Amino acid sequence: MDMFCVKAPAKINLFLRITGKRPDGYHDLYSLMCPLALYDVLTLTLGGKEVGIVCDHPGVPEDASNLAARSARLFLETMFAGNTPPVSGLTIHIEKNIPVGAGLGGGSSDAAAVLTALNDHFGQPLSTPALMALAARIGADVPFFIFGAPALVTGIGDRLDPFPHLTPWTALLVYPNEVVSTAWVYKNLNLRLTKDEKKLSKFNFDGRILNVDEHLVNDLESVTERAFPVIKRIKRLLLAHGAAGAMMSGSGSTVFGLFANSERAISARTALCNNQQSKNWTLYVADLLI
Ligand code: ATP
Repeated sequence: MDMFCVKAPAKINLFLRITGKRPDGYHDLYSLMCPLALYDVLTLTLGGKEVGIVCDHPGVPEDASNLAARSARLFLETMFAGNTPPVSGLTIHIEKNIPVGAGLGGGSSDAAAVLTALNDHFGQPLSTPALMALAARIGADVPFFIFGAPALVTGIGDRLDPFPHLTPWTALLVYPNEVVSTAWVYKNLNLRLTKDEKKLSKFNFDGRILNVDEHLVNDLESVTERAFPVIKRIKRLLLAHGAAGAMMSGSGSTVFGLFANSERAISARTALCNNQQSKNWTLYVADLLI
């Protein structure tokens, strides 16, 4: 029986600007995304007739709606359409280390890891662009995880340009144990276009140099913050404990602080752990994968 393990990294958005809304309801964005050294671990075992998921995290569905299961089915259907596939089923065990509903893209990363692992297993029948096109059918963030490196992301999240200019940072992630629905955040985003266009024109990013004082801007932050004021408190604490910059990732609820090295991030983590407010929070120290 074939069995193999793959790692699925988390991501943060170093900035996330919403540039408009399409007639089909999707939003156009401009974002700098970076993978992080915080991983789910997936074990794929080929065999059986169905795609099954095993995961002991209560927030992760074990049915057909799991993004890893959807990816596996899509890959097998696409690759072996009309032919008898060499395998019709597999079991995917997910060791969930990335917090769920946290703006860290865990589900999307699991999906991308399954697509890449199956493509590799079958001798890479799909090129990277073809795999990214398949990934886009699962979700807007999935192509980024196939790409797997810092990228400037535009369109609805489907256009990616490599961003090789990041300097090394260590992130201290604070997950306040609040699950945020991305769909809810976008629904509550009030796009006053003229105001947003003005804001965007003030966003002096030259496409190369990320200035953490100026560019850590997330247009979804104020929406999530209204429902979860803890986000503002975490940002203040991260900055008070030496973060060069702090921001909510994606639609939240995780807030990250950027530190020059892991020693500084670890001592900030110790300080935050001693804080009374943090007893329900989960903290992670993870390097940006640049
Ligand atoms: P996004 O910003 O892409 O919505 P997120 O990081 O905020 O991502 P995820 O952890 O990816 O959120 O999970 C969002 C929802 O997706 C969960 O509430 C869960 O029900 C569902 N889901 C489906 N498959 C998975 C998976 N493999 N891992 C985690 N969640 C999954």
